[in-house]
Amino acid sequence: MNPSHVYDATLHQPGTVAATGRCSWHDSDGSGGDACAGDAVVSFQDRNGDWQSGCRRALEQLVERGDIEPLGQGA
Ligand SMILES: [Zn+2]
Repeated sequence: MNPSHVYDATLHQPGTVAATGRCSWHDSDGSGGDACAGDAVVSFQDRNGDWQSGCRRALEQLVERGDIEPLGQGA
């Protein structure tokens, strides 16, 4: 399980979807097929160690699947 952080644009590579404040998880992964909530609320590292951003829907799903810790723990 990876740690999660309150969304921080400085964690992301300039020029990426994540750095613009949008949700890179729905943009690249799209698993679940549900609608993206838009604005990123969380920054986290995926299984490859790459920084991703997630909207609140992505956050809910990632925590549910055990991929990342709930926000506010260990950050
Ligand atoms: Zn999203």
